[in-house]
Amino acid sequence: MVASRVSTTLLRAFPRHALPQRVGLRPIFATTPPPPSSLRHISLFSSSSAVRSPTTNNNNPTTTTTTTTPTSINTADADWRNMAEKDINLYLRQTHDRVFDHNKKWADEKKASDPDFFVKLSAGQNPEYLWIGCSDSRIPAEQITGLEPGDAFVHRNIANLVNNTDLNVMSVITYAVEHLKVKHIVVCGHYGCGGVKAAMTAKDLGLLNPWLRNIRDVYRLHEKELDAIADDEARYKRLVELNVYEQARNVIKSASVQQSYAKNQFPIVHGWVFGFNDGLLKDLEIDFAGILKDIQKIYNLTE
Ligand SMILES: [Zn+2]
Repeated sequence: MVASRVSTTLLRAFPRHALPQRVGLRPIFATTPPPPSSLRHISLFSSSSAVRSPTTNNNNPTTTTTTTTPTSINTADADWRNMAEKDINLYLRQTHDRVFDHNKKWADEKKASDPDFFVKLSAGQNPEYLWIGCSDSRIPAEQITGLEPGDAFVHRNIANLVNNTDLNVMSVITYAVEHLKVKHIVVCGHYGCGGVKAAMTAKDLGLLNPWLRNIRDVYRLHEKELDAIADDEARYKRLVELNVYEQARNVIKSASVQQSYAKNQFPIVHGWVFGFNDGLLKDLEIDFAGILKDIQKIYNLTE
């Protein structure tokens, strides 16, 4: 649910009419090429309230230009809801810039540990895994699995859904199987999934309704089992698992997976669930061969 949380955050911080004047969103989301890095800060954040470094006019030692003392905000603890306008500008600049700082540090470290790292990365990709996960910001696929760049082809959306009319996910599966020849396809859900929770709520969620309908359909398919679970939290957890199970079935229904498996004996489809409380992945041990055999009574696309 990270995407909706971020957009809600932005909207709360900046009423629609105030956005362009205040932080200049256009350069962030513009479709035109970004400016050189040396100009990036200027185009993004320069404004009348921007904080500038103290400078002295050397041509005239008697005058000193802008002397606003630079300040820094602890962005980890800061609450943007209580900030003054000038602090919000600084906060946005810091949260933007830190990504570039981390990127530089990461690139330097990779190069230091392996001088050919980026040479090899540039040569192409040959990933073993296709990861289909939730967009939730707390589940970075590579970090929780120890995978490196090049190891996994990744697709994420709200509640890790595989809808056969979703051109995005179906293109990802087709490309990963037919061109990248991945050996494993992982559908990874997580306990505490906001998308699954929302689908258990009797509420009109606008544009999210048709997306979350897929999860309500999973509930309907397993209504008897879920309704028999008295504890709300236990029922919620079980729906997370059943959603992963059904999305894995949807992957197996695809023509590319069926045809590749018949020819190559891969990919194998897996269903996993991540837990925030211990950081561990749980393998639902989906019976791939059994499901494949079962669904081919109706969904056989190998001919
Ligand atoms: Zn989620």
